[in-house]
Amino acid sequence: MKVLSKMKLFIWRAFHEWVPATNNLAKRGMKVDNSCSLCQARYESTIHALWCCPSLEHVRAICLALYGIRVPNHSLFIDFMILCMNQLLVKDVELLCMVIWRIWYIRNGMVHSSAIIHDVDVVAWAIACLDDYREANALKVNIVWDQGLLSDLLWYPPSVGVFKMNTDAAIYWARRRVGIRVIIRDCKGSVMASCTQKILAGYEPLIAEAMVVLKSLHFAHDSGL
Ligand SMILES: [Zn+2]
Repeated sequence: MKVLSKMKLFIWRAFHEWVPATNNLAKRGMKVDNSCSLCQARYESTIHALWCCPSLEHVRAICLALYGIRVPNHSLFIDFMILCMNQLLVKDVELLCMVIWRIWYIRNGMVHSSAIIHDVDVVAWAIACLDDYREANALKVNIVWDQGLLSDLLWYPPSVGVFKMNTDAAIYWARRRVGIRVIIRDCKGSVMASCTQKILAGYEPLIAEAMVVLKSLHFAHDSGL
């Protein structure tokens, strides 16, 4: 499936019910109100947040009109996606993944920062984003590496089924801060997850590097990798 890595990762997390919808958080023991903050439904499950919430009625109507995506009530997001993958062409599943990622992005904006983003732009945004992505990939030049250049490479991909995590720490002595960067790639070199963070601390370099590795491991675990 040819969509941005962050979207693939998000869908994969949703497959496993690892998206932080409030009902998923409550199942993990967090004391949160597990109702939907947009429609006040009793449980905000993954499938509710990403597809079944009444606030997404307009998006669902567009998807139905364009692609005939009509989905009965499912309790799990994975059932929904498997049904779609069985019914749709691959290119339409790719668009659906973008739509779902955008839905989550907008939901977060509305819930956490009171941003007003109208859901009517979801499908149009996804179509434009997918077009841009396909166009950019079509322009990719096949690079032929010679042996000399290969021997100079500092980064090598991990084995199939294994992820490689690279970390870095930058120390800002004057402000007593440590900058953290982590990037996780798969065997093809595709970025599966990345993050940057600044923490208030005056660590020595060795301690800072160790802290970065520790925080990166937590990040990888939270990313479901
Ligand atoms: Zn809702």
